[in-house]
Amino acid sequence: MTKQIMIIGGGSCGLVCGAVLGRFIAESDLDAQVIILEKKEKLGKKLLATGNGRCNLSNRDLSMNHYEGHDLSTLESLIQNFDVQTFFEELGLWSKYQGDLLYPQSEQAVSVHECLLRTLNKYHVSSICECDVESIVKKKEKYHLYTNQKEFICDYVVLSMGGDAASQFGSDGSGFKLLKALGHHIYPTVPSLVQLVCRNMDKRLKGVRIHGTFKLYAAQKEVHQEKGEILFTEYGLSGISILQLSRYYQQYSDQKIEIGIDAVDQYEPSQLKEKLKWQLQQNGELQLNGIIHQKYANYLENGRIKEYSYKDLNTIVQLLKDYRFEIMGTKGKESAQVCIGGADVSEFNNETFESKLSAHLYAGGEILDVAGDCGGYNLHFAFASGNAIAKAIYQSLLMEV
Ligand SMILES: Cc1cc2nc3c(=O)[nH]c(=O)nc-3n(C[C@H](O)[C@H](O)[C@H](O)COP(=O)(O)OP(=O)(O)OC[C@H]3O[C@@H](n4cnc5c(N)ncnc54)[C@H](O)[C@@H]3O)c2cc1C
Repeated sequence: MTKQIMIIGGGSCGLVCGAVLGRFIAESDLDAQVIILEKKEKLGKKLLATGNGRCNLSNRDLSMNHYEGHDLSTLESLIQNFDVQTFFEELGLWSKYQGDLLYPQSEQAVSVHECLLRTLNKYHVSSICECDVESIVKKKEKYHLYTNQKEFICDYVVLSMGGDAASQFGSDGSGFKLLKALGHHIYPTVPSLVQLVCRNMDKRLKGVRIHGTFKLYAAQKEVHQEKGEILFTEYGLSGISILQLSRYYQQYSDQKIEIGIDAVDQYEPSQLKEKLKWQLQQNGELQLNGIIHQKYANYLENGRIKEYSYKDLNTIVQLLKDYRFEIMGTKGKESAQVCIGGADVSEFNNETFESKLSAHLYAGGEILDVAGDCGGYNLHFAFASGNAIAKAIYQSLLMEV
């Protein structure tokens, strides 16, 4: 009897899992069929949107402090031993590092998408789109999948349905419900890598980008800092540094949260004060728009500095190096790139991702309680776990022959 393997969710993890397993099966002539069931009208919609359409595939620095979750220690070797660049090169996709970040050579997410779809096609992995899996019931050794289209019966099932961030791309948390119904524990989720909403945002700042160092304060205490770039929006703050800091927001959301902007982080406060003093001596006044972005300078001058004496250098140093915006919340799960929380990793084998509660049931990618920083960490884990699941199912199929 042909063994049936159903992958629920044709996103980053499911596509890699299908491609690798399809290849193993085809090359070893096993009697098995892989089918991907995808709720959206096409496969890999989120993958196409990653990295602003450029798809940040991975990162050179894979240390575990870039990940968050309740039980990450057992995943370190899987994450660090998976080489995304070599993996995709074998499938014909070239990639390159920009700093620590790995991108496709073409700098187009569509190249990654097409590479995976081409591989699925080559190894006869089929897919059924607009197929929403609503429940799973295990009867004897088989899994029965009830969908909006029909009932499927399979021997192996992979849940690669993502978390509940950015549901416009299909991942709406339904994977959590399916796993919960099968007895798995799900940690509650909160949005991460998400824009922050500020109190009384001045809309004139919209579009201003600042390079510098940005600190997250909870009840006046510094919690974390990021060096990089932020972007002012109509409602508050965005940009990579803000997305990174958002990871810490929920932990402290019962306290007063502020973002402090250091727009001149190349100078220590004392050096900056000396430089400002020298400038004052030269022409008797200080023009902030000669130092920082004009609109930000106007905002600081109009709103604040005129209240003080221009000669109050300590105040000016503080405004330039630690101007605070109060944060009222995040833009929510819809706008988030990932969620923190998800299925309890300790209930899955850390090498095969097979459920310890239900044989031949696997889960990988963002459905698990593993959330990475910005910088390719989430795709890296989705690819690594999808690859590991494919290898595990292949080994299991071989043992059954
Ligand atoms: C805008 C944006 C940009 C991002 N950029 C990057 C980046 O550059 N680098 C990076 O590392 N990470 C990035 N991420 C995060 C990364 O895309 C995700 O962490 C990763 O895609 C998770 O892979 P996954 O396969 O687990 O889930 P997903 O890619 O979300 O795939 C899950 C799939 O399951 C399907 N599905 C869900 N429920 C059902 C159901 N009931 N029945 C059938 N199918 C179902 C969904 O439609 C979806 O196609 C970005 C995220 C967003 C939103």
